Amino acid sequence: MYLNSEIIRADFPILSREVYGKPLVYFDNAATTQKPLSVIRKIEEVYSTINANIHRGVHRLSQLATESHEEARKTVQRYIHASSSNEIIFTRGATESINLIASSFCRSQCKPGDEIIITAMEHHANIVPWQIQRDITGVVLKVVPITETGEIRLEDMEKLISPKTKLIALAHASNVLGTINPVKDVVRLAHSRNVPVLIDAAQSVQHIPIDVQVLDCDFLVFSSHKMYGPTGIGVLYGKENRLEQLPPYQGGGEMIANVTFEKTTYNELPFKFEAGTPDYVGSTALGEAIRYIESIGLENICFQEEKLLRYATEKMQQIEGMRIFGNAKHKSPVVSFLVKGIHPYDMGMLLDRLGIAVRTGHHCAQPLMNALGIEGTLRASFAFYNTEEEIDVLVAGIERVKKMF
Ligand code: PMP
Repeated sequence: MYLNSEIIRADFPILSREVYGKPLVYFDNAATTQKPLSVIRKIEEVYSTINANIHRGVHRLSQLATESHEEARKTVQRYIHASSSNEIIFTRGATESINLIASSFCRSQCKPGDEIIITAMEHHANIVPWQIQRDITGVVLKVVPITETGEIRLEDMEKLISPKTKLIALAHASNVLGTINPVKDVVRLAHSRNVPVLIDAAQSVQHIPIDVQVLDCDFLVFSSHKMYGPTGIGVLYGKENRLEQLPPYQGGGEMIANVTFEKTTYNELPFKFEAGTPDYVGSTALGEAIRYIESIGLENICFQEEKLLRYATEKMQQIEGMRIFGNAKHKSPVVSFLVKGIHPYDMGMLLDRLGIAVRTGHHCAQPLMNALGIEGTLRASFAFYNTEEEIDVLVAGIERVKKMF
């Protein structure tokens, strides 16, 4: 279904602002998306009407805030089709979710020499936590290479799997190349060797319908702020039996059953992994963001974003000296590019003066930049509220910057 961009854009107050006297063209959605009014209002509503610390509160406000937090957990469960809300752990974001698994998993399930497989297109959030564990527990990191088009081949991954492989952790969609990885096939392959899989869905959960039961993945992580929700909150999904086997990541309030100085027993799932006062305002607002996505329809969002990606790729390819990185068949709405003879920082800064927000640099994927033999790129990343007219502004902006060089 075609979305009426005028109506949609009215939901996002920031989209009508100007930057340097020019209408804002916001193409940095892979870094963070803008927020609809319903989400902004929800945050105000929680603080204005039900704010109180949650769980174990006998008073009315505490009960209401607890209900709101637990309702949000159910909303997330529904959105990714988890079989139980016990499988939804609220964290600070995708980064913390991966750190949680890396720490708890490696500490409890790995011995020196055991192997973790990642891919060459991972965000630092899915590299560094494993390296930290490598230094603590002696696990070995193996990396699946990428092809010319920026894809992984299952046969390359298969070659890396050995009896010592303990986990495969990979991005569903690359934040740089846009590549959508065949995660269902990866899970099938991994499970045929009894290897669990963690999917980094930070760049897919806002674009593609996700059903964790169909994917059959063991863990899946994402951040609220990239899916129209607030910053500071995210999700770790884990199969219940997998999460049961893992020790807590952080200790403190909420995550305990009983504490004495001699011994502490831990709370049940999901609370075992939620030490301290949870971000119940954030969770509630994330729930609202999901309801917003559902009200638009993820399939409609997907349709619009694919259209924008096709349009942008077609138009940008016509620019002389343009080099686009990532030409996978299945892509999220991201175009990473360089223009011959122009440093990406210069291009990014000059586009900014025209009101166009794109990201420049290594995009937290330095090993990928090394593999591509470059220092960085420019990245235009789209959301369903963007328009073809805005892409025309970007293309004209790039041409204008080119003329200046
Ligand atoms: N993984 C990928 C693929 C990402 O793009 C990002 C954010 N750029 C992250 C993980 C980390 O997300 P956050 O910073 O919200 O924790």
